[in-house]
Amino acid sequence: MDRKRINDALDRHLRGERSSPSTSRAAKLPSSTKEQLDSDSEQDNSASEGDDDTFWINWFCNLRGNEFFAEVDDDYIQDDFNMCGLSTQVPYYDHALDLILDLEPVQGDVFAEEQNELIVAAAETLYGLVHARYILTTKGLAAMLDKFKNCDFGRCPRVSCGGQPCLPVGQSDVPRSSTVKIYCPKCEDLYYPRSKHQANIDGAFFGTTFPHLFMMAHSHLKPPKPSQQYVPRIFGFKVHKKT
Ligand SMILES: [Zn+2]
Repeated sequence: MDRKRINDALDRHLRGERSSPSTSRAAKLPSSTKEQLDSDSEQDNSASEGDDDTFWINWFCNLRGNEFFAEVDDDYIQDDFNMCGLSTQVPYYDHALDLILDLEPVQGDVFAEEQNELIVAAAETLYGLVHARYILTTKGLAAMLDKFKNCDFGRCPRVSCGGQPCLPVGQSDVPRSSTVKIYCPKCEDLYYPRSKHQANIDGAFFGTTFPHLFMMAHSHLKPPKPSQQYVPRIFGFKVHKKT
């Protein structure tokens, strides 16, 4: 449903009904999506204008590989207090913020293709950094709870964890330090996400605190430690440990 809404809005955008000259969303789309757009163009374009408020965020969170991201409330992003310090970490901060919030660029702001690409990249970084803050709030934790219940973050690959759903975590809160990992609340260890797309996401977009605060807030979801410990055997005999 959301994907259709996005396609509809993109279609309108491609046909010039949205007068956003610079940060063209269509340019970011894989060609398969563009083809899909063309084939869908005969369908109704009834997405209401009010829905455009969440357009970029909705689009971004529905991209393949971005399944770990929750949708951050516009209200949260519009509150300067929540964005404190981010303008020094993200280039083209104002333009990136406009893009995330679907605000039309100031008239006369026409960017070269390379600048557009930088703004698009900056918007993703900005969203990631504000996302790391948002998921620690009550609303953010609730959004991530839905995703956890849906197993959007994947399951622990360890056999004795029995398919325990995991949570995303960063090994650093500093951007570009390491990629996101998944944390298993049962064996309390970290693993690489299964999808290559997910494995390339910056860990700072989730932060070091999230899964632990999440488990504190939802302590009833904390699984007991696994009782089984795998024992290596050769012809049925335990392997003698060298001392
Ligand atoms: Zn585990």
